[in-house]
Amino acid sequence: MKFVIPHGHWPKILAVFTITLLSACSGNEGSSAQEGSDLAAMDGDDVVTVYSARAEHLIEPLFDKFTAETGIEVRYITDTEAALIARLQTEQERTPADALLTVDAGNLWHASDAGMLQPIDSEIIQANVPANLRASDDTWAALSIRARTIAYNTDRLDPSELSTYEDLADDRWHGRLCLRTSAKVYNQSLVASMIATLGEQEAEEVVSGWVNNLAVDPMSSDTTTIQAVEAGVCDVAIVNNYYFGRLEAENPDIPVALFWPNQNGRGVHINVSGMGVTRYAKHPELARQLIEWLSAEEAQRDFAGLNKEYPVNPAVEAVPEVQAWGDFKRDALNVEQLGALQADAIRLMDRAGYR
Ligand code: FE
Repeated sequence: MKFVIPHGHWPKILAVFTITLLSACSGNEGSSAQEGSDLAAMDGDDVVTVYSARAEHLIEPLFDKFTAETGIEVRYITDTEAALIARLQTEQERTPADALLTVDAGNLWHASDAGMLQPIDSEIIQANVPANLRASDDTWAALSIRARTIAYNTDRLDPSELSTYEDLADDRWHGRLCLRTSAKVYNQSLVASMIATLGEQEAEEVVSGWVNNLAVDPMSSDTTTIQAVEAGVCDVAIVNNYYFGRLEAENPDIPVALFWPNQNGRGVHINVSGMGVTRYAKHPELARQLIEWLSAEEAQRDFAGLNKEYPVNPAVEAVPEVQAWGDFKRDALNVEQLGALQADAIRLMDRAGYR
């Protein structure tokens, strides 16, 4: 867990941190109520608190700019999405968090489904974020888009051999495919998108085919998966674009490239990072303002660009190194479906023997 303290807020932050620890460990209702009122009393009107599963180096420059423009301080902690959602559930009305920032529509859906978010009524967000990238009940909105696409070894195959996610189930890819573990929500969302489009039976046949074609056991990260493609352990893999972008930045000659599949069909599977206002936010208006600001043109380029992702705001172009991978058709599925079908996807992958 990372706890970040804006300038001039040390005593206040230490108090919040202490109280949060106490309230997380304490089952005493009386002292919890006292802690809640203490928190409300010490929070200024100009501070918004964010629980972020997005890394510090990707958010701090934007939060600093937001503060400079609006005078609103942003306080945040970073942790894994599971830890942050569990923390919101433990803290309930005692939470200092006004907003939750996390990755993957599956996680956003889960936080909303668990009742940890509240609807945001904002015409600005509705104008900046396309409808398929927002919760239908307005409890969260996407702020960046990532493509989960095919990466291939450029020495070992020609892109003309590639076509769709489904084709990677064909026997001709036997012993040539690398995948990250099915425990990662990114793959659960990918399979959920196939259930939504192909139906359970066909999606399961595809996933079984992938498992049959694996060169090695599923890997623990997208980065090691791409490195396996680079090393020739496998010829193809399915990964998020920004992990490739990081490796490509380190080694522009890396013998790996991205391929955009399903261009004659539903398009490339996309997922998001996004943000919602917490159910018990003390400053829901400031949280809404921050999300609106992050969805607007000025912030979008950096919010997406710092992680080599795609902006959600259609008025904003991706940074040059991302644009260099070429345009592609995106799956227009409402990303909310990725969360709604997550449990089905996990069961399907289990049946198919995808570990
Ligand atoms: Fe990631």
